[in-house]
Amino acid sequence: MKPLTEREIRAAFVNCTKGAAKRLSVPRDLAERPWDDLDFLGWRDPQAPDRAYLVIELEGRPKGLTLRCPGPSSWQMRRSMCTMCLTTHGGGVSLMVAPKAGKAGQQGNSVGAYICSDLACSLYVRGKRDAGAGSRLHETITLEEKIERTVVNVAAFVAKVTA
Ligand SMILES: [Zn+2]
Repeated sequence: MKPLTEREIRAAFVNCTKGAAKRLSVPRDLAERPWDDLDFLGWRDPQAPDRAYLVIELEGRPKGLTLRCPGPSSWQMRRSMCTMCLTTHGGGVSLMVAPKAGKAGQQGNSVGAYICSDLACSLYVRGKRDAGAGSRLHETITLEEKIERTVVNVAAFVAKVTA
C-alpha cells in the first residue's frame, strides 16, 4: 500500500469521533513500516492493550477502524484461524470488535471478527512472518490471489462496519 502519514491515518477513521481519532495512538515508526508488503496497516495500542486499529485504502481512500479486543478467554487456547488472511495460530488470533459507524455505533452496535492478534496478516500471507508449523493451509492459489482474498475480506469487514 501507499505509505500514509499520521494526519492521513487520523482522518481515515470511520467508526469513532473526530476527537477520539485525534487522541488515539498512531505508530511512531510509520517511516519504517514495510508498506510495500502491507495490504493494510494494523497495530495494537501500546497504551491500551484491549484496543487495536487498522487502516486500509479502499477505492483510493484510506479507511480506518478502531477495534476492541475483549480479554483472553477459553477459545484462545485452541488453534484459531484469522478470518482475514486464513492463517491459523495457536493463540495468536483475537476476537476484534468494531463499533459500527454513525448512529448504529452510538447505540452500541458492533461487528466482530477473528483477526491475527498482531494484525500482521499481510506479512503472514507473504511468508514474511511465521505463525508456526501448520499455520498455512496447503493451497494451490497464487500469492497474488491470497493477497487479493485478504484485501476482499478486510474490505468486507469495513463495509459491515460502515453499513
Ligand atoms: Zn490474519
